[in-house]
Amino acid sequence: MTETDTKHLPYRLREPFLASTELALFRLLNQLMGERYFICPKVSLNDIFYIVRPNENVHFFNKLFRKHVDFLLCDRHSLTPVFGVELVRPISKGEAREADKFLEDLFTDAGLPLVHVPSKESYDPFEVITLFQLTVTKVGGTIPMRIKRPNDAVPNCPICGKMMVLRFERNGSGIGKTYYGCMDSPRCAGAVQID
Ligand SMILES: [Zn+2]
Repeated sequence: MTETDTKHLPYRLREPFLASTELALFRLLNQLMGERYFICPKVSLNDIFYIVRPNENVHFFNKLFRKHVDFLLCDRHSLTPVFGVELVRPISKGEAREADKFLEDLFTDAGLPLVHVPSKESYDPFEVITLFQLTVTKVGGTIPMRIKRPNDAVPNCPICGKMMVLRFERNGSGIGKTYYGCMDSPRCAGAVQID
């Protein structure tokens, strides 16, 4: 069959667009954080990141090309990416996870937290929140988000979306400094630094 004797292009709609495990997580993320973030499914890495000195780094382009992250959580107002979320197979013993390692390094180096969620048919909201908290803790204890003055509008928790309250750091290098902490602390580790 040549192109001239077909009426239609050789494309068909993929069905379903999201696998059941992806859809289940999409629904939960919307429920937990939908007020604060747009949950964008299947975003091309190429649309999120760019490569410095592309001529020297062709090899790195190939690593990105045609790959996507399962979900990108973007601020509802600015559409700025805030979290990547990737479903992962529960890891079996001794198994190397090269692809995940690359994805993790990519996000970390570019300063965007990436949350790995073990793939399931249904998710426990507390487990998912905990995975977000662990990721936030790993990238330095607070989400990469700052506000200028305490007089600015009180932010909502970047993790769970609840109200935040002004708190004082009680230990560590920033002792005495004020920051916004989630009202649900210590259950939720969401925090916003004040410059
Ligand atoms: Zn919170």
